Amino acid sequence: MVSSSRVAAWLLLLASPPLAATTASSLVDRFDLAVAGMSPTGGPTVVERSRPRRSGADFVVERRLNVKVEFPDSVSGTMYSGLLHGEAAVFTRSVNRLDAAVMREGTIEVTSLDAGSTIGAPDLPSRRSGRSVGPGHFENPAAYSLDIHFLKHDDLADLSIWDVHARYVAWWLADLSNHVLPTEPISVWYSAGVPSLTDMAYGGEGSLHAFERALKALDDDYQFGLERTYKKKYIVLTANAPMPGTAGVAFEGGNEAMASLGGRERIIAHEIGHMLGANHLSAETRGWWGCETNMLSIANKLRHDCLEYTAANQRAIRSYMRHGPDTTAPRKMADAPTAE
Ligand SMILES: [Zn+2]
Repeated sequence: MVSSSRVAAWLLLLASPPLAATTASSLVDRFDLAVAGMSPTGGPTVVERSRPRRSGADFVVERRLNVKVEFPDSVSGTMYSGLLHGEAAVFTRSVNRLDAAVMREGTIEVTSLDAGSTIGAPDLPSRRSGRSVGPGHFENPAAYSLDIHFLKHDDLADLSIWDVHARYVAWWLADLSNHVLPTEPISVWYSAGVPSLTDMAYGGEGSLHAFERALKALDDDYQFGLERTYKKKYIVLTANAPMPGTAGVAFEGGNEAMASLGGRERIIAHEIGHMLGANHLSAETRGWWGCETNMLSIANKLRHDCLEYTAANQRAIRSYMRHGPDTTAPRKMADAPTAE
């Protein structure tokens, strides 16, 4: 028997306007128009809320992030925070696509739209020519803003770099830029297929040191700047555990880390947190069955990820950005959260 509420729902659906207005390209067009109408400072102005929620295309662009994304083949991306269907979302616009990551109860849901051959879109990142595709390439001569380089291991060949960005990185980057380091420009670079880095063997006790050695061996070729600044971070993303018994590992305050995409949502945030001076002791759980902040060292399946750093770890990261690592402390490796 069909309940009356279900009948009501069906009637609502039948009364809805046709979905033609919500095709991918029209949404991308409206997104670009919304972005073009933003104030140059990217202030938190609601600039687009033109559709009723049921249309499937309701979004709000609130703020352009002070973040530059460089995908392979010289494709750039710009990022925005806002809402999609009333839920907190992070948007990444690059040539021919728009990705939205929605944060819900510690999980990330990604909506990807092919922008097709949209032309005349304002403020679009453009494809540039003549650039080296080296993973550590940078163009800013002042260079010492925060640069984070993601190297996608060959064993993640089934996952596109755009999916890696939208699903695993975008939420963290938006939080870092909006709440932790609001005055810092941040650049994120993605590379794949880099010989002796993305094809390295891993899974043993010496994996992080092996990664560091491989980076150093290529430093001249790619100008990684490993010894020049503490603000250039390199992280290999892997399918499996980078070292025995852990989904991630990093040098505390250092420039090298490894993170498995098979772990919790917060693994990348956790390992980069270690590189930026955040620590386990300042992490917290919120409620018995609530959530776990990024730096918590144990992971309980019954709790979800808060998808943020505690106020204490935010301060630790800001302090690190001002002062750099404690160079008198012994060098230490730090692990990812392990199951409780
Ligand atoms: Zn840790």
